[in-house]
Order: sequence, then structure tokens, then C-alpha cells
Amino acid sequence: MQTLIENLQFALTVDSDDAVIRGASVVIEDDRISAIGPSQEIAAQYDRASFDTIIDGSSKGICPGFVDSHVHLSETLSRAVFPDNLDTRTWVFHWAKPFYSHVTEEDEYVSVLLGACEMLRAGTTCFLDMGAQNDPAVTVRAVDEIGIRGITGRHAADNPPQEIPAGWSEDMVAHHFFPDTETALIELEKCVTQLNNSANGRVRCWVNIEGKEPCTLELHTGARELAEKLGVGTTYHLATSLEEAKISEKKYGVWPITRIANAGGLGANLVIAHGAAVADDEIALLADANTKVAFCPGTSLKLAKGASCIGKYPELLNAGVTVGLGTDGVSASGNLNLWRQMYAVAGLFKDARNDPDMIGARKALRMATIEGAKALLWDDEIGSLEKGKKADFILFDLNHVEWTPYHDPLQALVWSATSATIDQTWVDGRVLYKDDKIQTVNEVPLMSEARTRAAQIISRAKLDTLGVPTTTSLYS
Ligand SMILES: [Zn+2]
Repeated sequence: MQTLIENLQFALTVDSDDAVIRGASVVIEDDRISAIGPSQEIAAQYDRASFDTIIDGSSKGICPGFVDSHVHLSETLSRAVFPDNLDTRTWVFHWAKPFYSHVTEEDEYVSVLLGACEMLRAGTTCFLDMGAQNDPAVTVRAVDEIGIRGITGRHAADNPPQEIPAGWSEDMVAHHFFPDTETALIELEKCVTQLNNSANGRVRCWVNIEGKEPCTLELHTGARELAEKLGVGTTYHLATSLEEAKISEKKYGVWPITRIANAGGLGANLVIAHGAAVADDEIALLADANTKVAFCPGTSLKLAKGASCIGKYPELLNAGVTVGLGTDGVSASGNLNLWRQMYAVAGLFKDARNDPDMIGARKALRMATIEGAKALLWDDEIGSLEKGKKADFILFDLNHVEWTPYHDPLQALVWSATSATIDQTWVDGRVLYKDDKIQTVNEVPLMSEARTRAAQIISRAKLDTLGVPTTTSLYS
């Protein structure tokens, strides 16, 4: 199957030189890009009659699909449920955990499909999911059906709070926490063995754990060691806020990243989600270990993680640390739209530091694409538009007011346009979003089912009653 997309206005390749080709054509052979270059060169190399499909790109532009480095697909039904004025621990332990422990396998299937629809509509073609609350095979099935690319796992924890909060049942504790580290690691190994490289290699499975207080230090270090043994990666939440760093300092005498580093837990196959509370001397620890960071600007804005006042993301980038972008779950950030995160990261530190040279459009697009691909250990196949890479990309409709006029497509992409201007989203050589429709799922009945199921979960978790705490001292 050979497709030609000809005479595109531009291609933002995000290759090592950030090459922008004005007047570009792309040849796709099955699941891969077999050629990309100036339209005249491609026209000279190929016989148009040899293509199965030819797409007129004369009113379109192209860039690599976005890579979401931190998402919770099991949580998509929790959109707009929890109040937006809670501190993180109250939010997690009194609102999020009760909700998530009432998400059934059927709910989770709908949740993953709904999340994938939102991602494809916003140009995301690959993700790193924190993992299933239930059987990760269900997540893999949903991802396989819709056709997106991604990494998932089993959301694991082994350290419940000493005092079980009011409103938590024994079932909830059993659902959320493995009885000990060894059992958790055995289960995680089983998931990777059974599910890694599913769906024709589009779905990978990692040794993912929740991280922070709900996990022992042994699970943090054990997960990374196990991942290394299995040849995969691991991800967990860490250094997510100043609040977490201060508790770590009080309990262990050091900030979270130093604590993991001191235990030998950092490594190139670890993606730290958030990493907002990083001390100056911890930047070198991350750089030396080639540990990756997934920054979630939307969560920082909604949950007050403090990224703009204490975050060291510009310094991490300057030190050579791979920093991708994540949307986090819909309850944390409100949406799974990586384009919005790209816009936020491009400007957040300019404003916070009163310095126009901070991050900006070029780095923001790299973070949303190739840097994310590096974090996911998948940059050999995705993250840029280059010959031989997977055909994962976004086509923009330039006949849109947000692209009118544009001189520099990079500036227009990051600062002017929104996902409303996406014409098509392709993954693995297949068009999954086009004509305002996801091609592989019927979204109307899916949304209806999602609304019904979300209301039922809220009711089962009793989050619609008064008395759900708005402060906490858990893990203090
Ligand atoms: Zn998260």
C-alpha cells in the first residue's frame, strides 16, 4: 500500500536540524515514511501512477504526531468531578482514589477509548499511560481497536496509609495496594511478559508504578531494576510539588530525587512524571543518569504544583535532560490535549522569569514530539518525520482563520493554531481521524455510555455526598 501526500505547504520535520521543508511531499509505504522532501524532488523520483492513494496537500501542512509522555487513560471518566481548590494529597487520597477504586473493567475499557478519541482529535499519536487500575489486557484491547500507539502497564502501589481514611473500604485498599513489594513486582513482570509488543508492536507494556508515598523505596528501585532486566522502561510520579519535597525532607532528610539517587534508583529507562520540585544539585543527578522527565503544565496550573515558580525545566533542558510533555489525567489537568501543553510550556517560563528567551516555540514542539519519543525509548521509530520512521503524523487544514496568515509555520503552530485546525491524524500508516470523525470508533454512543458510567462511579464512590474531606494529614 503506497500513499503520496503531495504539494504540502510545509513539513515541520523535527529532525536533528529542525528542518522545515516549504513545498513538501511525503511517500508512505504501509506503516512507514519511505520518502520526504521537496515536492519537485519527490515528483522526479516517483511515477504517480504507482500510488494506491494520492492526497492533495496544497492547502495542508504536516508535522509529527504528538507524544504524550504522561497520561492516565484509566481516569478519563473523572473529568470535571473533583473541586479545583484542593491540595494534591487531599485531591489524590480523598477524591481520586475513591473514584478510581470504583472503576470497573468495563468502565476502564470505555475510559481508554474515550481518552484515545480525545488524543487523536488533538494530534496525539503515541502515549505513555500510567497503567490500568484493573487488568491491563483490557487497556491493550481498547488501544488495539482504536489503532493509536502507546505504552501501558499495571498501576501498582504497595504502601497504603497507616490509618485507612474514612470512606475507604477494605476492598478499596486491596484494589489499590499489593500486599508487599515482591507480589507487586511478580504481577508487574507478568504484565510485561504477556502484553509487551501487542497489537503488531503498537502497544508496549512497562513496569509502571504510582510512585511517591503510596510506594515503598524498594518498589521504586525494584521497578526500575525489573524494567532493565526485561528490556523495557518504567515511570512513576516523583518530585511533583514543593509540598511533596518538604515532606520528604522532613521524613528522610533529602528531597525525592536525591532519595531515589542515593538508593541507586535513577537510570536511563526511568521517566519521572512531573519533576516540579528539583533542587539545583539534582539537575546533574538526572542528567548523569540520563533519567527522563515528563512535564505536565496543565496539571501544574490546575493543581498548583508550582512549576512556574520553582520548576527547573529550562535548566534541565540546558543540562541535556530529556523532558517530554504530558497531559496527566483529565481530572488533574482537565484535558488530554497535548497541543495545549505545548502552548503553555512555550510561554510559562518566559513569563515566570521575565525572559523572552525561555523555551519558546521550537523547543516546545520538540518536547511535544521527539523529546517525548526519547522519553518513551521509541525515538528510533517515532517523534520526527524522516525516511524509515513510522507514519505517525498530523495534517493541518490551513484554510482556517487560525492559520491566516502565517509566515513562519512553527510560530503559527505553537502560538496561533489549535487542534480545531487538524484535518487528519495518522498512526502506523493509517488515518485514524479525518472529516471530524474518529475512523475506528463510533464516538456518539461511546460518549453517551461514558456519561452514564461516570455518573454511576460518582454515586458508588459517594463523591456526590457532603463530607468528602477537603484537607488531609495522610502520610504527613
Ligand atoms: Zn499522573
